[in-house]
Amino acid sequence: MTQARTSKPIGPYERLSAEVHEWDPRTAEVAGRVAELVRERRPDLTVEHIGSTAVPGLPGKGIVDLSIETTPGDIPAVVAMLYDLGFGPQPGPDPWPPTRPMPVGSLDLDGTQYRIHLHVQPVGGDFPRDIAFRDALRNDPELRSKYEGLKRGITSGGAVEGLRYTHSKTRWILSVYRRLGFAPPPIAPPATIGILGGGQLGRMLALAARELGYRIAVLDPDEHAPASGIADSMQVAAYDDVGAALRMAAECSVITYELEHVGPAVVAALDDRRRPIRPGPYPLKLTADRIAERRFVEANEGRVAEWREVAGAAEVLHAAAELGYPLRLKAVRGGYDGRGQARLDGTDAITQLDGRIGWPALLERELAFAAELSVVVARNVDGVSRTFPVARNVHDRGILVESSVPAGVPSAVEEAAATLAESLATSMGLVGTLTVELFLMPDGALLVNELAPRVHNSGHWTIEGATTSQFEQHLRSICGLPLGSVEMRAPAAAMVNLLGEGAPRPAHPTGTYEALLVPDTHLHIYDKATVFERRKMGHVTALGTTVEEALARAREAAGHIGWAPAAEASPTEPNG
Ligand code: ADP
Ligand code: MG
Repeated sequence: MTQARTSKPIGPYERLSAEVHEWDPRTAEVAGRVAELVRERRPDLTVEHIGSTAVPGLPGKGIVDLSIETTPGDIPAVVAMLYDLGFGPQPGPDPWPPTRPMPVGSLDLDGTQYRIHLHVQPVGGDFPRDIAFRDALRNDPELRSKYEGLKRGITSGGAVEGLRYTHSKTRWILSVYRRLGFAPPPIAPPATIGILGGGQLGRMLALAARELGYRIAVLDPDEHAPASGIADSMQVAAYDDVGAALRMAAECSVITYELEHVGPAVVAALDDRRRPIRPGPYPLKLTADRIAERRFVEANEGRVAEWREVAGAAEVLHAAAELGYPLRLKAVRGGYDGRGQARLDGTDAITQLDGRIGWPALLERELAFAAELSVVVARNVDGVSRTFPVARNVHDRGILVESSVPAGVPSAVEEAAATLAESLATSMGLVGTLTVELFLMPDGALLVNELAPRVHNSGHWTIEGATTSQFEQHLRSICGLPLGSVEMRAPAAAMVNLLGEGAPRPAHPTGTYEALLVPDTHLHIYDKATVFERRKMGHVTALGTTVEEALARAREAAGHIGWAPAAEASPTEPNG
């Protein structure tokens, strides 16, 4: 391995945090050498020097960015040739996909190691945009000095993590791209939007999409899934069925998802640049794994409960001695609505786990929080974000039962939550909606519980309570449209979930008449075929002049809704 390395002209790449250096004229020489090496093997290809080192006088991280454009079919051969020169695969959590890879390496110039990013772009990709951006910076001193000021601002407090540095510049860069004519075109109705997952979130997204004039394709394993009645077309298939996902994608202009548990192979197959996946493959990958998510939050200056990664009962016992009881043990993948986690109140609880939670798992302190909060932010293709007012949430055994807005927290908490959500969305490069679940501690500190790169149950109140609903906002972002207002339509809003009860049976709600006698109250039933204990069947939103009034109305209306016993269930008879 070492031998192979020394015999190659391109050396290994090292990941470092970003520091801004003065422009180095020798980077042009590095670019020239690499261009020569490539020309010897592939005279048909041109290597362009792009990025900040390609702009004389512009400070930057000092990484030499280069770009090659070729046909999609030629990309594997180009990558193989680059690896033969000594380039290697891109490290880090969010590499470019194989359809537009970025091999990395280094070149030694008289004892100085220059790091290189070599983008390989398919025809029709970002190559012309990157050249236009470089040329605009070369030709416009004012643009150059603005960019320089931005870069120095980000690193004024010292070196920052590479991803964070990159994403902190995106909003400005995206605005320049738009001015240069390289903004992603809006996806206009009646384009088809594909949704991975057809549950209630997919249903409400589909309803909002229908209002805007879009068509909807849904993939869900259940042919009677809540979104099935709204979708124009349906793929009945598992969330990891690549063939079905590609069949759905064939008719779609953009793909989104309503759940985090989409198979990684599906995401990889869809990420072929034929249509965007939004909020994005990376946010999905990150939030599908509780441990990756924790590390990401910590790397982005968010606080979390003290936690450990544990690989078995012995490690739980060991970590528990450090953390102290009570604890929460959470499956790394697949948990939702409190499923996939266990409360540990002592050593006995660990021996009683019986393989309910797979290993490795996340172990963390159970927090004595003052309140649970959540914040929904939307970020569009221009990197502009808007955050809905913070909601105060109440859970029962892991399931959300109520949300109310305003959350009744000091404005400093409200602002801190919004700033955190926007910075996490930016660092993920997310386009769409991100929900951040938070614990408000008695001392006012905010700890992140979990992230969801999607619309969220705690944002359902926005349908009637905000000028733009979270569903419309999500659609606006993923379709490349301007975001809507997040102003409230009333002083207060409250949402109460309608949970099923009893044995599984056909779902027929009772009490709808009485529920709707309550003023300023809106009923949402998800049309699930079967009701069972604690299943989310619908919700009620009420508006009011105070949170107390809105909550009282929503609770009263929700209290009227029940589910008919199996024998009496009859879809044609009125309730009563
Ligand atoms: P899910 O994916 O099921 O929503 P969460 O991790 O959000 O999983 O946990 C569900 C609920 O369980 C939380 O909203 C909260 O009420 C409770 N919970 C989870 N972790 C903790 C903790 N560390 N301390 C206190 N309560 C917790
Ligand atoms: Mg949760």
